[in-house]
Parts: sequence; structure tokens; C-alpha cells
Amino acid sequence: MLLNNTDSRIAIVRGDITKLEVDAIINAANTSLLGGGGVDGAIHRAAGRDLLEECRQLRGCATGEAKITQGYKLPAKWVIHTVGPVWRGGDNREDELLARCYRSCLALTEPNEIKTIAFPGISTGAYGFPMERAASIAVTEVRQFLESNTSLERVIFVAFGEKAYNCYQQALL
Ligand code: ADP
Repeated sequence: MLLNNTDSRIAIVRGDITKLEVDAIINAANTSLLGGGGVDGAIHRAAGRDLLEECRQLRGCATGEAKITQGYKLPAKWVIHTVGPVWRGGDNREDELLARCYRSCLALTEPNEIKTIAFPGISTGAYGFPMERAASIAVTEVRQFLESNTSLERVIFVAFGEKAYNCYQQALL
């Protein structure tokens, strides 16, 4: 496959996002930012109680927006918490709100000198967003951002399972 400079900065990695040695990992949080299940639970368990303490100070986060904290016991220096839309059939601005999550997270990279970042499939677990459609939005937004950004060196899509891996691969074709 011939890669342009944008796609050469994108990778798909299988496994657990909490193990990745990147500058920042993204958390698919809920509006309270006070922890939850899925990837949120895994991140809070791995980071330790200090993460919850810092999250309390943030007073929540609106859908489509993002807030940054330290990573504490994680290998990642930062956690960027974003809140994806709950899937309600697709006619309730879900695509637009999911795209906004990616843009909000990416916008925090340059001011925080983040060079490497990893995304889980925001909204594709408990929030029910179809994985294939979510992967396509994720890839579109990341590509668009990288086209005009030169500071971010690596963007990793973390595939938690075979289906997710195939969806990212397909979206990157
Ligand atoms: P949401 O509420 O936004 O749907 P979930 O945490 O339920 O968030 O799921 C988001 C995605 O993260 C799902 O695709 C799920 O399979 C994946 N996921 C769950 N745990 C992990 C983990 N430890 N590392 C990476 N991805 C994970």
C-alpha cells in the first residue's frame, strides 16, 4: 500500500489502551468525568485514585468536547477525556458529535506538546455507535487534522477486538 505522509503517521494497534507508551491516551468518558465502565473503568483502574481527584475538579464535560488531565500511574503522560454521543439511530447529530470529539482531542495536542496519541473507539461500546461508521469518522477527522498539522507524529487507533481492527483497516483503504 502506498502511503502519503498523512497516513504514514497513522497506525492501528490491537489491545489495551492503558498499556500504551504514548504521550496521551484518549478516554471515552461520560459527562460526569467521574468514571464508568469499559475503557473509562480500565483507565481509572490503571491510573489510580489521583486521576479521579483531578477529574472531580473539572466539573464534567459536554458531549463532543474534551478535557485533559495527567496520566498518573499510566505509561501515558496525559489522558484526554472526551464524551461521545449515545447512538440513537443516527438522526440525532451522532456523526457530527463524534467528529467533534476527535477534533476536540486533536486540538489539545499542540498546546500540550503531545507528539503521540492513542484513541479507543469512542462511543462504540456502551454508547452503541456502529463500529464501521465510527471508524470511518475517526479516520476522516484524523486525516484532515494531520494534513494541516506537522507537530503530531503518531496517531494510533486502538482496536479492542478483531471487528474493530477490520473496521479501521477498511476505513484506511
Ligand atoms: P462508550 O461509552 O463511549 O461506548 P466504552 O468504554 O463502552 O465507551 O467503549 C468504547 C470502546 O472502547 C469500545 O470499542 C470498547 O470495545 C473499547 N475498549 C474497552 N476497553 C478498552 C481498553 N482497555 N483498551 C482499548 N479499548 C477498550
